[in-house]
Amino acid sequence: MILPEYGLSDHIGSTGGNLGDHVRRKNLADVLSLVHQGGPHTRAELTRLSGLNRSTIARLVAELVDLELVQESEPRDTGVVGRPSPIVHANDDIVALCVNPDVDAITLGLVGLGGKIHSRVLYPTTRVPTVNEMISIVSEVVRDTFAEMMDDFRIVAIGIAVPGIVRVDQGVVEFAPHLGWENEPVAQLMKEGLGYPAFAANDANLGTIAECLYGTASGMTDVIYLNGCRSGIGGGVIVNDRPLSGVHGFGAELGHTSVTPDGVRCYCGHRGCLETEVSLSRLLNVLGETSMDPDDLGHAIETSSDKHVWSEVNRQLDILAVAISNFISVFNPEIVVLAGFLGGLLDANPTRFHERVESNSFRHLSADVRIVRSQLRAPHLLVGAAELAFASILSDPISVERFR
Ligand SMILES: [Zn+2]
Repeated sequence: MILPEYGLSDHIGSTGGNLGDHVRRKNLADVLSLVHQGGPHTRAELTRLSGLNRSTIARLVAELVDLELVQESEPRDTGVVGRPSPIVHANDDIVALCVNPDVDAITLGLVGLGGKIHSRVLYPTTRVPTVNEMISIVSEVVRDTFAEMMDDFRIVAIGIAVPGIVRVDQGVVEFAPHLGWENEPVAQLMKEGLGYPAFAANDANLGTIAECLYGTASGMTDVIYLNGCRSGIGGGVIVNDRPLSGVHGFGAELGHTSVTPDGVRCYCGHRGCLETEVSLSRLLNVLGETSMDPDDLGHAIETSSDKHVWSEVNRQLDILAVAISNFISVFNPEIVVLAGFLGGLLDANPTRFHERVESNSFRHLSADVRIVRSQLRAPHLLVGAAELAFASILSDPISVERFR
């Protein structure tokens, strides 16, 4: 997948230098990306995948080891005659501090280079957090919960996944309606509060990237992604291997497509948006719960014998099916990934849902589309936030010196 170029001012250092230096830095980036996104590789595999020669790969790997971005380990004895090729891993001690604020909790995580989640903390809040309250909570968790881990890990940057419209190049939340945040310079405030470079982007866009790099949509070029959380439904669309961003970078707001014009009024000002009709809050109401991990929702529904619960579940599934049928007609995707509570909703009654999609769709477009639950489940937003935090190091590994 071609990742978005965010134009982040804190990310890339000087691009000066001669042509040889430019080529070397690009080759370092290519090799680091191969082991970050593709997992451990032998030097021989890196040689084949990069198209570079053996001695160049050996030199690039040595430089990445010096930068502490990769590590080498001895290969297993395969019985093949000749000197076996060392295995190159991303150094997952290099971590991104990842933050996902929502209306009733803040989720934090430490995600290593290579995408491994070392720790995930769900910090419930008694009310919708302000930006300053979020930063205080992040400071507290780093100081207390993550303190012992800091002997082993090194935070290089912070990635913030925000349920709202974000100007990524400036790290400014333009509008997050459910959080009540408007024109908040979240990245700058987080950097001042925590002391690390910080970056912010729309949560669903980051979730889409995580699913395309590490999840069910890996290797696919045309993808629709929908994430459902307490702050509504966020969307992401990949068209021909590129994220759909729109003229201001705010595209793919699939949660604000109209499904019932006379429905409930939405935070965006309109009525009957997808996220008001397909809603975690409305599901929790019929289940008699106030909050629930989205990954637990499917089980809660499946074990319920309350006809009101099933009536609401089927109503939401039918509306979701209409919306997805429309998205399939517009984007002609290979796969539709449902994350957050939408995954639980799908698992509650997949037969009904797939039948509704089929009956609502233009058959030639929907016949081969897979509609699946997010493989990475709830932590996928943190993985996406880590990709944002690591963006500079991945595009110019030498820039990691600026993060020490
Ligand atoms: Zn709306």
